[in-house]
Amino acid sequence: MADGRYWVQTLGCPKNQVDSDKLEGLLHGEGYVPAADPGEADLLVVNTCAFIEAARQESIDAVLALADVRRPGAQLVVTGCMAERYGDELAEALPEADLVAAFGRSLIPAAPSGARRRGVPSAPVTLRPRPERSPAHRRRAEHVDSFDLLRLPRPASPAPWAYVKVAEGCDRRCGFCAIPTFRGVQRSRTPIDVLAEVRSLVSDIAMPVKEVVLVAQDLASYGRDRTTASHGPGPRRAVGRPTPLVSLVAEVAQLALRTRLLYLYPSGLTGELIDAVLGTGVPYFDLSLQHVSRPLLARMRRWGDGERFVDRIDAIRAQSPLATFRSSFILGYPGETEADHDALLEFLAAAQLDWAGFFTFSRESGTYADRLPDQVPAELALERSRECAELQDAITARRRDALVGQVREVLVDAPGTARSVHEAPEIDGVVRVPASLAVGTVVDVMITESLGTDVAAETVERHGS
Ligand code: SF4
Repeated sequence: MADGRYWVQTLGCPKNQVDSDKLEGLLHGEGYVPAADPGEADLLVVNTCAFIEAARQESIDAVLALADVRRPGAQLVVTGCMAERYGDELAEALPEADLVAAFGRSLIPAAPSGARRRGVPSAPVTLRPRPERSPAHRRRAEHVDSFDLLRLPRPASPAPWAYVKVAEGCDRRCGFCAIPTFRGVQRSRTPIDVLAEVRSLVSDIAMPVKEVVLVAQDLASYGRDRTTASHGPGPRRAVGRPTPLVSLVAEVAQLALRTRLLYLYPSGLTGELIDAVLGTGVPYFDLSLQHVSRPLLARMRRWGDGERFVDRIDAIRAQSPLATFRSSFILGYPGETEADHDALLEFLAAAQLDWAGFFTFSRESGTYADRLPDQVPAELALERSRECAELQDAITARRRDALVGQVREVLVDAPGTARSVHEAPEIDGVVRVPASLAVGTVVDVMITESLGTDVAAETVERHGS
């Protein structure tokens, strides 16, 4: 057993944060304890993101920044999606790192600190992905690495909410996305496994979790790999039974005060799933739409179109006027025309989403879109992204204004900062509350002022803590 202090820095999305929580559990098991800051850690771990070029650069910058502040003798380890996707090439490009560890590999370098260092890498670091493994090899290999990570215990949550990752990998092949090439096919955890993790989070004495945020690469498909013959042995779904996600949501909602779902592929948003989400009391719908033009979505190898999306959103709002919607969109996908862009602007005006993120297309080697003709110039993609963001910012501000004068139940995440059902952690705005409210408290507040994406509120009545 080691006896040292660790520092874990996480880049990327909530799914990566869950992996980091599990890595911390692994390090606790090895005898490590958390360091107060990176400068006093014996082991520094960077959990990288490889989603798009900007995320990769941010990950590399994080590694170099930690290399600068580490104390003599401290070891620096790079793990996560970049380590998985680029393997040895990343190790070559980052001599500052004592170890580049793919999913599930030990995080403890065998050699002493600095054994690999040969100086500063030439900037910028350019990387080519490892050759894609065959589906059979990928499935076999990842059953024993990244998926095993999900089964590990995690340390107590530092906040009264926590992400719970219910599956690893993805069976879809969206044109722009490289994730399935390094995260592999979908492997869902069993409900028993997920519920055991939820139980331990909500029953923690120091920081009982009140809000569980379910995440996966393709959350709406949770459990399909365990219920269809194409994925090998496993229980088949009986006709007429709820989908695995619908059952899981109902069970998690029995344990946690709030259950929130992130990343729903739009075709997976069935009537029964809508009812299940509304049944949790958190009418929050994070729809992964990416675009609304039918021909462009077909080029993206994705389902749907703007008309269907608006119809579904309107139907949900008719069922629950408090329903909140978030989505994200890609601008400048190959072949995107002015007409496609206009369709997206019209959709945003019609849908009146509460929250939306806009990303310019990133050409990822090894993806279908990398080989498509009619690549859109980066400046044009950026201009389209800005136009969408400007329109959406005004819509978001109006929807936040409409909350003024309303009473909402909020969960206090940190002194002075809380969230109602309308705000997901880390990505949406917050409710600013009196700093005297204890972290983890659930209170009713009156929204008094809209401050752009945030709102300010005063306590109305305390429910408990
Ligand atoms: S659903 Fe599409 S975008 Fe999401 S992880 Fe799977 S392939 Fe990538």
